[in-house]
Amino acid sequence: MLGRSTEEIVGADVLLEASVFRQTSPDNTMLTPQLCLMGCVPVRRAGQSLLGGLILLQRADHAYTRLPEQVLSELPGMISTIAEYRADQKKIQVAHDISRKSHANMMRMALAIEGSATGIWDRDIQSGEIHYSPGWKAILGYADNEVSNRIEDSYTRLHPEDRAYVQDTMQAHFEGKTESYVVEHRVRCKDGSYKWISSRGKVVSRAEDGKPLRMLGTTTDITTMRALSERLQQSVDLVTCLTNEVPGLAYQYRMQPDGKECFSYVSEGIRDIYELTPAQMKECVDVIHARIHAEDFPAYRAAILTSSSRLEHLHHEYRVNLPQQGMRWRQMDARPRRLPDGETLWHGFITDVTERKRIEQELQELATIDFLTQIPNRRSFMGRMEEELARIQRGAGKASAVLMCDLDNFKIINDTHGHAVGDLVLRHFAHILDDELRKTDYAGRVGGEEFAVVLAGANVSEATVFAQRVQKQMRETPVNANGQIIPVTVSIGIAVMQASDIDADVSLSRSDMALYQAKENGRNRIIVAVDG
Ligand code: GH3
Ligand code: MG
Ligand code: MG
Repeated sequence: MLGRSTEEIVGADVLLEASVFRQTSPDNTMLTPQLCLMGCVPVRRAGQSLLGGLILLQRADHAYTRLPEQVLSELPGMISTIAEYRADQKKIQVAHDISRKSHANMMRMALAIEGSATGIWDRDIQSGEIHYSPGWKAILGYADNEVSNRIEDSYTRLHPEDRAYVQDTMQAHFEGKTESYVVEHRVRCKDGSYKWISSRGKVVSRAEDGKPLRMLGTTTDITTMRALSERLQQSVDLVTCLTNEVPGLAYQYRMQPDGKECFSYVSEGIRDIYELTPAQMKECVDVIHARIHAEDFPAYRAAILTSSSRLEHLHHEYRVNLPQQGMRWRQMDARPRRLPDGETLWHGFITDVTERKRIEQELQELATIDFLTQIPNRRSFMGRMEEELARIQRGAGKASAVLMCDLDNFKIINDTHGHAVGDLVLRHFAHILDDELRKTDYAGRVGGEEFAVVLAGANVSEATVFAQRVQKQMRETPVNANGQIIPVTVSIGIAVMQASDIDADVSLSRSDMALYQAKENGRNRIIVAVDG
């Protein structure tokens, strides 16, 4: 028995209790000895749907057999009207309450965010009315009474280029395609200038068929933020241009305390320096490690780890093997910094130094290689001898043999066949020496037609065998100058490098003295120094 509403209709001598029930017949509890049933009449809404039953009771002591026809026919309508009116009143009251609360809420919110460059609006979608908070009006430079509350006026303030985008976004939200409405666009102020605003809103009530009824939203002035973000973007563009345009690769590299590493930034130069894309590089450092020359990789790793542990400037040169360019030289320079969480952060660049390395190599050769014979010059040879002597003095390995070779009567060759033929003979002899050397041995041109040889770890008899092979080669393969055979012999003095030698010159001069003996004894011979 829900929603009971009772009307008492009092006649002069009749008391009717008219009750509307969700049922069309009375239950027994209503009937008492004092009340008896007169009849039941169905009560319908204006739309003809059944509301319940009108049960007519009368006092038992005023028993009427029948109510007048007119009363019977009008009563259900009256009851229905009263019931519906009451229900409508209740709905209207609830709607008013909500609206009053909403408006109060909106004003409270508006006050709370006053001064934060954000305003609030409340739009009745069906009527086209829109109400703005004072803060909203202030953003555009309007006083409280200067803005109309019509939605069509609000559209005229939109920047023409933004209008379609804003309206489309709004429409999509009205159609329920989006959770909320969020747009950034320009809007015209009172003084005619445009401001960038961020507008966010949401439909807060819809009709049963989904039609949007009311929408609430906020508007934030983002003009300053947009300007800042544009300036920031310009700075980013400048840095990106700089790092991309300068030759080489600019990068930011990180190494965490647990050893995890990554490139957090790489410029476009990566495509040339490692033949990789920025995306590949960021994925994993292994792709780079695979490009580094295997022989240079340990030193490359050591340089990075040392720079991290000592926070020293990282400077390292290494070779890479690239699919397109082949073997190239790279130079890496970076400054490390330690972050509070223990991470090491480098900013640096890698450049191509292949050409410089080639020139350096050439200069190195010019400085160390004899141009005519292409074997080490005296300075370079003596340098290696010093290293060899130091090794022997440390007691590391066996002593080495030192040979001094001098072409016999070379002056006569020059005088007889000309200087050019003399050069040819010098080159030929150097070639023979070079052919006879093992990897650990080395020779040098130490004078005009004088050549010295160090046979690493060799004793005098092994050195003698070597010297004999050289003489034999000279004998058996004489220089042929324009069809003319030029026989040349060579005298050789042999000594042994000793730990007691003060320097390499001492070792060499002993073999030189043995050579002098060979010349004295008639040339084209081999003499071993008396003390080895
Ligand atoms: P010995 O058997 O006593 O060694 O007599 P030698 O003639 O070989 O020795 P000497 O020291 O008298 O002459 C060496 C010559 O080597 C003199 C010099 O002109 C010549 N010579 C030195 N450097 C070069 C060179 O680069 N090219 C040529 N063609 N000759 C050179
Ligand atoms: Mg000489
Ligand atoms: Mg000579």
